[in-house]
Amino acid sequence: MYSPAVSRAFLRSVGVFIPPRRRRTNRILRAKLIVSDSCCYYCGYSLTLNDSTLDHVLPVSKGGTNRLDNLVLACYECNQEKADKIVW
Ligand SMILES: [Zn+2]
Repeated sequence: MYSPAVSRAFLRSVGVFIPPRRRRTNRILRAKLIVSDSCCYYCGYSLTLNDSTLDHVLPVSKGGTNRLDNLVLACYECNQEKADKIVW
């Protein structure tokens, strides 16, 4: 692992391979599609890889993390509507 204090751009500039964030996001989306029966966490709408987004249950701005247990599958509309609100 690398220290988060060192930027991704710096690591790339010195030749360390850092996978693009989008590739990691796609892997997580695929995994979440499988475990959630491809449904939006909030409205239950059936999703595909192309129309699903990852939502932070506890928003990052409120102390949430990028850990898998804080990420759920959501349709674009629910994700936009929820924004940084906390929904229990
Ligand atoms: Zn939804």
